[in-house]
Amino acid sequence: MLSPSCSIYSRDLDYYFSDGNAVLLVEDTLFKVHRSILSKDGSTFANLFVLPTQLGSSEEGNDDRNPICLQGDTAEQFRALLWALYALPAEIIQFTMFAGDHRFYHIARLANKYHFATTETWALEAIPGYFNRIDTQLVVADLIPATEVAFLCEHDELKKLTVSRWKHYLGEPTDIVAAINISEKLNIPDLLGEAYHRMMLLGREVWDSSLTASQRIRLLSGFYNIYKICESLGSNEPKYVHANSCPNHFQCYNDWTEIWNIIHKSDGGIIEQLMSIQKFDLLGKLMLTESIMKNMIDDDPSMRRLAASIAKPCLIRAYEATQCKLAETRSNLANYFANVE
Ligand SMILES: [Zn+2]
Repeated sequence: MLSPSCSIYSRDLDYYFSDGNAVLLVEDTLFKVHRSILSKDGSTFANLFVLPTQLGSSEEGNDDRNPICLQGDTAEQFRALLWALYALPAEIIQFTMFAGDHRFYHIARLANKYHFATTETWALEAIPGYFNRIDTQLVVADLIPATEVAFLCEHDELKKLTVSRWKHYLGEPTDIVAAINISEKLNIPDLLGEAYHRMMLLGREVWDSSLTASQRIRLLSGFYNIYKICESLGSNEPKYVHANSCPNHFQCYNDWTEIWNIIHKSDGGIIEQLMSIQKFDLLGKLMLTESIMKNMIDDDPSMRRLAASIAKPCLIRAYEATQCKLAETRSNLANYFANVE
């Protein structure tokens, strides 16, 4: 019988077994399961059960009036972990191949916390398949817990996968804000820089309505850094090492300086003519430059005049230097938007 103090708790419909010998309280739900099951897979529960004095009372976990309280977890998460521990092989296979819900995240999170080693690995490795299954229906609400679990469990492959997925969602202001928040919370510089850069392009009205005060300071500081770089971009061509097979040693360097300037100059440069790109869209400008250079190498007729003087081997070197500058800029973005507080 429940004592009055326990009456606010309810027994879980799936995991309250009459023959169980460990009662646990998670939020306001009571679970009654088997100590031998909870002790599997090298879990910390194994130690907990052999050291009853550490629980404060040897009676702890014996009945509803004296449950073992798990702090910081939700009943839904704990139910998911128990599902993984009690499931039959066919259920596990079915779930791994077809499941379309959040249980993978819950299992991975709690398996990590309570050290169910192989259960954690299994859940983490099943998440990419889950992503593929729901593919276009994958939304930011899915991505947030997946990213948290990837970084909590320090799973490199899943970290890369979630960050690359985030980059597809940097369109809507609310999604960009979510990307900024999670990259600040989990310290993901790679995503943080790109998210702030995208937010910067949306303009002050959006910053003011969607960012916190400290995020706005961070954005303005990055905006200043990037504006300065863009201002002098036309006279800062990336350097390359001259190709041995080219005879026009100095001519090529001069030509390259001129080509870069023609692409980037602010009064009628190629980029300005090609599309209306914002003055401070540093990434956009460099990506466009990369594709212009590619067209020059591929002998695109519209670029023939621009590429006429520079020797092909050096043009290729200049293209590679442009690619490096783009990659460097991407990896530096987070430094431009450094936290100045
Ligand atoms: Zn040359």
